[in-house]
Amino acid sequence: MDPFILAESYWKDLRDQYIEVAVLPWGATEAHNLHLPFSTDNIMVERIAKESARIAWEEGARVIVLPNIPFGVNTGQMDIRLNINLNPSTQMAILDDITDVLNRHGIHKLLIINGHGGNDFKQMIRELGLKYPEMFICGSNWFQSFNNADYFESGGGHADEMETSIMQFIAPDMVKPLSEAGEGKGKKFRIKALNENWAWAERRWTQVTSDTGIGNPHKATPEKGEKCYNEIIGKVGNLLIELAEADIDNLYE
Ligand SMILES: [Zn+2]
Repeated sequence: MDPFILAESYWKDLRDQYIEVAVLPWGATEAHNLHLPFSTDNIMVERIAKESARIAWEEGARVIVLPNIPFGVNTGQMDIRLNINLNPSTQMAILDDITDVLNRHGIHKLLIINGHGGNDFKQMIRELGLKYPEMFICGSNWFQSFNNADYFESGGGHADEMETSIMQFIAPDMVKPLSEAGEGKGKKFRIKALNENWAWAERRWTQVTSDTGIGNPHKATPEKGEKCYNEIIGKVGNLLIELAEADIDNLYE
């Protein structure tokens, strides 16, 4: 039992415990090629939240990790069986309620650690900042905290070499042999600007990939996963330390 995990805390201890930063992991429940489970995003974001909080806690940062929200935005994947979609407006309602609780109890710093590409909290953070002026809300996509090419030969972002490697390291029993994995071949848009990242449209997932994966997982190894994972938790841990130390009325230099 760790004192920085809300789900493992007891009220007697928590009642008077000083807390500086709350951490909210947010994943998704969705198909991940043929070799990773539906819980992949949740397993990774929960582990990253927990172990980066441990790093921060051991440096004296008073943080608490809230339970992971296991459903994300999957609006483009409703034809994939039991991919569970939470609409962005539903996410906003959930985030508003959680922020309200933190605000009432004097925990004015919140870090959302996002583990799913379809989730985007930026505009929600802007709107909640207006509603809760005493709160400092920060969002982080852990999968953007490192340079993919430093560890992996191919990218893609969904059940790809990176996700597979990290899962092979943190949850090896849940990864099927790579001989069972699909190629994760993702089609590009025919419209040029949409491939150049200055125009954006949602992808209809089943028209882009036949095995639900985007990115070839076949070169994945747990050794690559371990190295990358350690960089991630070090970086997120450091972010938590800096957030805990920050004066939210004096953030700029
Ligand atoms: Zn994923």
